[in-house]
Amino acid sequence: MQAAARSDGVVLEPVSTFRSIAHQRALVARKLARGDRIEHVFSVNAVPGYSEHHSGRAIDLGTPDCAALDEAFEHTAAFAWLQQHAALFGFRLSCPRDNPLGVIYDPWHWYFNPHAPRESASPRRLG
Ligand SMILES: [Zn+2]
Repeated sequence: MQAAARSDGVVLEPVSTFRSIAHQRALVARKLARGDRIEHVFSVNAVPGYSEHHSGRAIDLGTPDCAALDEAFEHTAAFAWLQQHAALFGFRLSCPRDNPLGVIYDPWHWYFNPHAPRESASPRRLG
């Protein structure tokens, strides 16, 4: 998918891929230790054991003209390209805006499902 994007002049950079439960636990603990409220932490990070990153199929993507893991990613050529083409490679946006799970909008977070139908070019919504 990265090579296909590059041939269209779009740069996709992997920011975060596999994350162990222990790593997720440490991430959450670090945020709680610095005083973040638990409701906020779990609106941004999955509860350890429940992150799609544990599966090895989730990837956070970035592009050079945007800060990593920033909602502004949705305004990049990379996001526009992903919306058009990611489904063709088996990737979908996990947390669209206003998703029914109440998870924060993650335009950078894409999930690979090898069994997903690939003819649809638009990301599937949760729920
Ligand atoms: Zn992610």
